[in-house]
Amino acid sequence: MRTYFVETWGCQMNVLDSQRLAGVLEACGLQPADRPEEADVALLNTCSVREKAVQKVLSRLGELKQAKQALGRPRVVGLCGCVAEQEGRGLLARSAVLDFVLGPGRVAQLGRALEAVAAGEKVSLTGFAPSQEYDARLIARGEGARQFVTVIHGCNQHCTFCVVPYTRGHEASRPLAEITREVEGLVALGAKEITLLGQTINAYRCPATGADFGELLTRLGSLPGVWRIQFVTSHPKFFTDNMIEAIAQTPKVGSYLHVPFQAGSDAVLKRMHRGYTRDGYLELIGKLRRAMPDATLSTDVIVGFPAETEEDFEATLDVVSRVRFGQLYGFVFSPRPRTPAARYPGRVPRSVTGERLERLFALQSIVQFELNQSLIDRRVEVLVDGPAKRGSGSWQGRGPDNRVVNFPAWQSIRVGEIERVVVTGATAHALLGVRAADNRSDQQTPSA
Ligand code: SF4
Repeated sequence: MRTYFVETWGCQMNVLDSQRLAGVLEACGLQPADRPEEADVALLNTCSVREKAVQKVLSRLGELKQAKQALGRPRVVGLCGCVAEQEGRGLLARSAVLDFVLGPGRVAQLGRALEAVAAGEKVSLTGFAPSQEYDARLIARGEGARQFVTVIHGCNQHCTFCVVPYTRGHEASRPLAEITREVEGLVALGAKEITLLGQTINAYRCPATGADFGELLTRLGSLPGVWRIQFVTSHPKFFTDNMIEAIAQTPKVGSYLHVPFQAGSDAVLKRMHRGYTRDGYLELIGKLRRAMPDATLSTDVIVGFPAETEEDFEATLDVVSRVRFGQLYGFVFSPRPRTPAARYPGRVPRSVTGERLERLFALQSIVQFELNQSLIDRRVEVLVDGPAKRGSGSWQGRGPDNRVVNFPAWQSIRVGEIERVVVTGATAHALLGVRAADNRSDQQTPSA
């Protein structure tokens, strides 16, 4: 087993988990391959948030089976991530090409799974240890200027539509001192922007000191060399006034706040078990805006939750109109295994959910276009990501509010550098800019 490939589906949490899986494989002496069909070990790091996750996994396993039959590779196939946790051993029986199943709480045991496979066994390692085994030294991160750090694992909220508490286990915060050491180490290796990860990140509590998320941000924001800190995902009910003040008073914290509201109707919020009301959410948004007038708010919305009426949906549109989110991720309700909402009566017909989602996106598109237009002529400090996906010659970077800015490249431009651009145009989904004449960064480039 000399080479590996990890295929990542889903969220930033999975991106980091894939780096953790790669780190374990590299510690076992494996090297990265360019494609799963060329690798000795191929891992699918899967996501089960959307519908048909299992079918998609089985279809991908079918392709890998064909590759193995035709090319002899991948020799070993492992299923990781949330679908692995959700389906467990059952998938081993459904796919002959699959050698092992490894849940997100068992990343550190990947070596054990490979040993079992080498001994001719098919294993399923799922479930969660009392404390999650997260070894920051064993993460194959690459040299990117933008890095992820988990601060809290799992989730205890049990929103009735969500599979995460079943696939990622109970909430467990990492010690503040350990997170601080990890961030310092990343900065020393050249990281500029650190994105802190957690399903309910603002529920963070240091198990050693009791420090909350605001205190964690204050600490990380004081570290020399950290240029910008971002974080996802906040739960509306865990913000406190002190925490909001800490976010607002820590200059290195980006101006991007992802605060899912999911639905605008109190009846739907109650059935979702979200723990807040529409008025409570709007009150929170008011506090956040007063503390951070320039912050860009982003959100998640579910359309067509069971028994959602037209009136309920209009309440959702009303929240979108009032708050004017800079970004919105909208999804049609998708019944997930083991979740209470999957058994709720009143399934909204597909024709209705499709039409509602279109209306939601149409409204959001107008809001986003107007907000982006209002940024024309602003100078924005961006972290350069590299060539834009579309558009010849353009590069792209992200500003402190997570907005994408596209701009023409210049000769000395480098990935991972901080540059200043002037916004010259805007669509609903991106800003267009040019290099600022005075291209000095507002903050010092990290010097750790
Ligand atoms: S808080 Fe987020 S991750 Fe936790 S159950 Fe609710 S939607 Fe899922």
